[in-house]
Amino acid sequence: MLLAEHREAVCAYARRMVADGLVVGTSGNISVREGDLVAVTPTGVDYESLRPEDIPVLRLDGTPVEGDLKPTSEMPMHLAIYRDAKDPDGADINAVVHTHSTHAVAVSTVVDEVPPVHYMVAAIGPSVRVAPYATYGTQELADVMLTALDGRRGCLLGNHGTVTYGTDLAAAYSRAQQLEWVCQVWLMARSVGSPRLLPRAEIGHVVERLRGYGQK
Ligand code: 13P
Ligand code: ZN
Repeated sequence: MLLAEHREAVCAYARRMVADGLVVGTSGNISVREGDLVAVTPTGVDYESLRPEDIPVLRLDGTPVEGDLKPTSEMPMHLAIYRDAKDPDGADINAVVHTHSTHAVAVSTVVDEVPPVHYMVAAIGPSVRVAPYATYGTQELADVMLTALDGRRGCLLGNHGTVTYGTDLAAAYSRAQQLEWVCQVWLMARSVGSPRLLPRAEIGHVVERLRGYGQK
């Protein structure tokens, strides 16, 4: 089986997305890339029952390679990221996570950028943009998403959800969680007052600082 370990990981993270409350039902999707091949969640399939052999494998040009199930309807978004997105540090992009996490979707309906209420915005970039709404599964959505991703590792999709990418699935997934968490913090703070926001320069400073974060 092609990309056996990656397909296993896609199943595990898809289930985790539901368990962690980042999606409900069959919403959201996940992909992992290796070279010219992409393993991606199938469209409209309950994640609980997913087995690695159910995970479709396609080429970067969209040609099916292995697996009987139809790939996610958001294939244009996933492929657009692998083909055209540029990590701000020049890192390889090998995984994409798309969620409908509640607080992020709520925030996407009221602002054009995630308000910098916490420094972890910098895990995505100097700001986190909200792409204008476009119908799910369309090239139009992939196009507005790419524009919002410019110089960033993630964005919100207006009235829809989040997209994050990374060098591996763990990194892409962690960014989806951090993004949801910052959105939740802002909404909570907003509900009791007028949150103090961090200056743009400070987020830029933390972007630099996070390059040295953790065990290197
Ligand atoms: P799929 O089931 O086709 O992956 O669609 C879910 C989704 O989130 C579409 O935006
Ligand atoms: Zn979606």
